[in-house]
Amino acid sequence: MKFDLAYCLGLDEKLSIYDVRDLNFDETMAFDSAKEHFQCPNDACRLAFDVANGLGTFNAKNVNYVRTPHFKNLPSTRHVAGCPYVSLKAPASTGEETDDSREEHFPSELLLSRREYLRKPSHPIVAADLQGAEPAAAPTANSVEQPGRESAPDKTSVFAHPVECFVSNFEDKALLKRMPLKIGEHTAPYASFFKKIEYLQDNKGLVYWGKIKQIKDYTQSFRIDFEKKVWFEKKPYSVNVYLNKKLIDSYRKRTAFLAQIKHAIESGRPLYCFFYGVQPALQQVPSKKNPEQTFGVFSANIENLDHLIVREAPGLEG
Ligand SMILES: [Zn+2]
Repeated sequence: MKFDLAYCLGLDEKLSIYDVRDLNFDETMAFDSAKEHFQCPNDACRLAFDVANGLGTFNAKNVNYVRTPHFKNLPSTRHVAGCPYVSLKAPASTGEETDDSREEHFPSELLLSRREYLRKPSHPIVAADLQGAEPAAAPTANSVEQPGRESAPDKTSVFAHPVECFVSNFEDKALLKRMPLKIGEHTAPYASFFKKIEYLQDNKGLVYWGKIKQIKDYTQSFRIDFEKKVWFEKKPYSVNVYLNKKLIDSYRKRTAFLAQIKHAIESGRPLYCFFYGVQPALQQVPSKKNPEQTFGVFSANIENLDHLIVREAPGLEG
């Protein structure tokens, strides 16, 4: 049985596996999922057992995953009778994942601002003193829970989550046409929110994706070239996106990101790039061979690495 959420003891929050991955790679956060305790998201069930009764994770720390990450029951995990998360299937004794690997929990919205977390204060007395000194402080100051989190658990701030929904359910076109996705002001079914790169002129503000032709490594910056071309005024143009040095250097998940890109360059495997937030536009760039001449290319500078993913996606081939 796969879990969409799990309670994280250290953060006193319910997290999706994509939140966990984001935290694992975030160099500004002290977080390692291997050392955290995850428990049943059903409060009544969780509170019925001690903290040793936990859940496991799958692909929580793998930078280059292919199969859908998730929380799962361990052979030792117990649930109260009637808990909706009681596993109907016994975990395979071989340790092999037998659950189908599709992402079943479709977020209805990608929130563009990051979710913030705060560990429980380790010195509650200090917290009480502060409260006494500033009685006017808003009682919500300590609350990091996003408004509506409980009532709308289908929102995510991690781009990888809707991307995994699209990739792992790619065969099920009817499902992707049925499930809605909202990003910013735009709402559309997954099937049309994810736009093939060659059709990027169709609409603004979408998630554009395509197979990567090559990643040019300029040591400090990168250019991702797409295989497919865009047709404009009856002529084909190459498409690419740039990732500049400043963007990468200041990225909170820099190490994981560079590992991902380097692996992508070296793996020789078919790779796909997904991005949101910018739309490549026709630009004239100088020719290398003859700088007097220019040629046209559809290009964009990526502005937020949180909204760019380079990954394998075997289901999208063919
Ligand atoms: Zn339970």
